[in-house]
Amino acid sequence: MTNRETVQNAEPRDVLAIFADLASIPHGSGNTAKVRDYCRDFAERHGCTAVGDDAGNLVIRVPASAGYEGHAPVMLQGHLDMVCEKTADKTIDFLNDPLTLVLDGDELHADRTTLGGDDGIAVAMILAIIADKSLAHPPLEAVFTTDEETGMCGAAALDCSVLKSRMLINLDSEEESTVWVACAGGMRADVTLPLTFEAEARPACRVTLGGLAGGHSGSEIDKGRQNATRLLATALKPLPVRLCSLEGGLADNAIPREASAVVCGDTEAISAALAAFADEIRADACAEDKNLTVTVAPTAPARPMTEDAAARVLGFVTGAPNGVQAMSRDIEGLVQTSLNLGIARTGDSAQTVSFSLRSSVGEEKEALYRELCACAQAFGGTVSRYGDYPAWEYSEHSPLRELYARTYERVVGRPCAVKAIHAGLECGIFYEKMNAPDSISVGPDMRDIHTPQETLFLPSVRRVYAVVKEVLCAL
Ligand SMILES: [Zn+2]
Repeated sequence: MTNRETVQNAEPRDVLAIFADLASIPHGSGNTAKVRDYCRDFAERHGCTAVGDDAGNLVIRVPASAGYEGHAPVMLQGHLDMVCEKTADKTIDFLNDPLTLVLDGDELHADRTTLGGDDGIAVAMILAIIADKSLAHPPLEAVFTTDEETGMCGAAALDCSVLKSRMLINLDSEEESTVWVACAGGMRADVTLPLTFEAEARPACRVTLGGLAGGHSGSEIDKGRQNATRLLATALKPLPVRLCSLEGGLADNAIPREASAVVCGDTEAISAALAAFADEIRADACAEDKNLTVTVAPTAPARPMTEDAAARVLGFVTGAPNGVQAMSRDIEGLVQTSLNLGIARTGDSAQTVSFSLRSSVGEEKEALYRELCACAQAFGGTVSRYGDYPAWEYSEHSPLRELYARTYERVVGRPCAVKAIHAGLECGIFYEKMNAPDSISVGPDMRDIHTPQETLFLPSVRRVYAVVKEVLCAL
């Protein structure tokens, strides 16, 4: 059965027919040329102009429907690329093979791969709007970006000076009952502390602290979870030991679950002190961190850092800011500014410590960076920053947000929530490059995106599609 046949009796038919075509064209990040050609041909067949750029983005200009010629243009936006994940037993060449859609009642997924509902459903809804000549809408700028999933590179490279819209509807969210209205910006900051070591290796043991829950440094930074690297440094700092190395974490945007240190000292005394430390921490820990473990095992002789170097490493790791720094005053429960000590590594001549900084207020991100720099300098370190992405700041006045919320309640029969997210969205890039357009991010319910279990809920697609069309009609 073809993908089109799989969805032929499901609603909304026009959207799902296009979605089936998209699923049949491989479109993982970095491989979106063919799917962009499909979108360009589709748009041109329906009387629109479509212009691509070197980065792989596509901008489609859709004329206003009759009677809407004088209305202000509106931007509809989604991304062309998808994350390609599969189960171990599935054979597929993601560069060349189509996905196989599976319809299970009201749920759409793919055969043992990601579905690409994120964000193919946005592309399909926007193209269906372009094709439906019965709709009433202002002039539209449909913007399909590429490589969102690998660092929002398409949006970052897009020449936004060609865009005229002052309103932006981004369709890259996965929670139907929520209108997203702000997101965090962020950066990575790498701290380097120069190290010196003693000349002679000494008997040593390895201390490993693990069993912590960890989690995403954006969405789980406010859950009270312990940072393994910081905790281990805190445990070692008062002990009469010589530090040889301190390492922990796997990614700057994940809270470290495990850390280890090589130290020289009395192994029995270290074991006893750390066992007592672990008991104390466990007693106060959040439920997810109750499985904290600390082990001490012999290891090969190692060269300790000089006393001064070790004091600077432990002083910095325990003294640098970490975790939630500020909560939003506008949106209840939203973390506004945070940072995560993600990766610590000991090299031959330097200790590196990498942080992920986030804030939904651009100024606070910069202030936090300056605070981190000052702290690093106090311990003889330097900081380099990269991977900056801008915040989408909450605006109290948003006619688009109000219209969407009102329309949603009228069409669906229940209110939707207004939320901000402590992670990055392409809206942040457009917020900066288009000088703060009135923006919302919405989308139908999806589950387990970026996994082979990714599932799209078709009744939710019907509702969101209906609401978006009504909103366009009212603009
Ligand atoms: Zn997405």
